[in-house]
Amino acid sequence: MTENTPAKPVDAAKIREILARNDTARLRMWLKACTSCGLCSESCFFYLTNEKKPEFMPQYKVRQTLGEILRHKGEVSREFMEEAKEIAWGRCTMCRRCSQYCPFGIDIAVMIHIARQCLRSQDVCPERLMNIDQSYLDTGNQMNMSDEDFIETCEWMAEEGQETIKGLEIPIDREDCELMFIVNAREPKYYPQDIQMAAQVFAVAGETWTMPGHGWEATNLSMFSGNLAVAAKVAQNVYDAATRLKAKKICVTECGHAYRAAKYEGPYWTKQPGGLPPVPVTHAVAVYHDYVKSGRIKLKHRFEEPITYQDPCNLSRSGDLAGKGLELLRMIATDVRPMSPNAEYGHCCCGGGGFIPMGPDYKKRRMVAGKFKADQIRATGAKYVLVPCHNCTDQIGDLNKEYDLGIKIVSFKEVLCELMEIPPHLIVDGEAE
Ligand code: SF4
Ligand code: SF4
Repeated sequence: MTENTPAKPVDAAKIREILARNDTARLRMWLKACTSCGLCSESCFFYLTNEKKPEFMPQYKVRQTLGEILRHKGEVSREFMEEAKEIAWGRCTMCRRCSQYCPFGIDIAVMIHIARQCLRSQDVCPERLMNIDQSYLDTGNQMNMSDEDFIETCEWMAEEGQETIKGLEIPIDREDCELMFIVNAREPKYYPQDIQMAAQVFAVAGETWTMPGHGWEATNLSMFSGNLAVAAKVAQNVYDAATRLKAKKICVTECGHAYRAAKYEGPYWTKQPGGLPPVPVTHAVAVYHDYVKSGRIKLKHRFEEPITYQDPCNLSRSGDLAGKGLELLRMIATDVRPMSPNAEYGHCCCGGGGFIPMGPDYKKRRMVAGKFKADQIRATGAKYVLVPCHNCTDQIGDLNKEYDLGIKIVSFKEVLCELMEIPPHLIVDGEAE
């Protein structure tokens, strides 16, 4: 748009449609019940790391975004929406920690999410997130990768992995498997070894598993852009693949928001009966936990360096995995140093809610607000951080450089590949000790 191009008029009817869809007794109660007591503020890492300025208080962020949109019944200006954008995306990761501390259980993140949907309906949203919506529509994944390239990458990784595990397979479109594994598109694009490592873990556990040739993308960043029509399409791709392949379960890779999208939000976006996914959804952390606990995976020895655990908000607070990751880590490592607080009370690292893909424009804020996490990590004295989420991995990697933490970030599959005993029938000929 040039300086002289008139700004697109605001479509208030579209905003009102979103408000009407969300006009529930729960929302009205929240809006009435908030006494502006400020008790939630101390729980928000943005507030704590920004000199406790009032504009970072959770209830302020809602009042200045959704509150104003409601007050004006959607008749808001583009200037207002630009300011609201800076709040809804730039001062909140929708981590939901504040709702754990509100005496009325008011869910600030849900209200910020409604504000994001209203703004996104007018194309007011960090540009990179809007571009990702388009990538999902064009190719079904955030990285614009073709299904052919994905399948080729899996074939390449399987072949390479056969140097470590005899006959290693990455089965595509196999029917009737126990698990249909779906990944973050960044894995085939930039970290294909991640898929190979997961394949090694599945092989050693004797799992029957597959990946779909289409519908393999686990991430759903449209949940964070506020474009729920696209979010529904992404979730439906996964459900259709699992139904087509008659998989018993969908297993989400080590990614936080992808689990929340597939298990908890996707069923509503796609109008599934009973609000449940058509095929049950599980997560790699839960699956690996069961392998180690049941003895399906045996360890040569345990990890001995001091290590801490990052709880992704969408696994430990918005999901059902609080405590599970730490429990798994304790089974495989001897010197586990949990952050404090952790599990469902853990602090967001500031990589979630779309912050990482929002790109360099938002990096400074990520570094300022991420200081809370950097301090938490440093306080553990651990030299390794187990991070079962790609967005947290990127953020903690940046914090490592910014605050000179001197840590190494690892995933469960990476550590398991180092530690697990390879059963005799999977030992590559000539490799036996
Ligand atoms: S959201 Fe809850 S804790 Fe926060 S100011 Fe309102 S009433 Fe108080
Ligand atoms: S959801 Fe998280 S980031 Fe947003 S206001 Fe609450 S605590 Fe802060």
